[in-house]
Amino acid sequence: MAEPPAVTVPDDLAALFDACARAGLYDDSDRAVLPVMFAADAEGTRGLIEAMHSRIGRCRRCRHFRQPGLANPGYCTGRDDLQHIYGFMYELADHGGASCDLFADG
Ligand code: SF4
Repeated sequence: MAEPPAVTVPDDLAALFDACARAGLYDDSDRAVLPVMFAADAEGTRGLIEAMHSRIGRCRRCRHFRQPGLANPGYCTGRDDLQHIYGFMYELADHGGASCDLFADG
């Protein structure tokens, strides 16, 4: 079966993809197949990238997030593998928890 022709990815979707790549959620191999994926299933590809993009900054939506005294950016209480700050507080994961396996919808 022939691969569908590559098409230009819309700018808004490319921007979401780039933000995900900066957060470490996609790499160069993902970027290489993006046009083919979009050509094969534009709606599905958009849904996938939008869902991935929603992971960025999700520490603030996590049950383990704490912000005593409105400290910015706040702390994690769920991962003792991160740098210890004080008490039961740890620094937040890189990219705000985008690829954190202990995210818990709070
Ligand atoms: S680092 Fe992980 S466990 Fe901690 S607040 Fe962020 S998403 Fe939650």
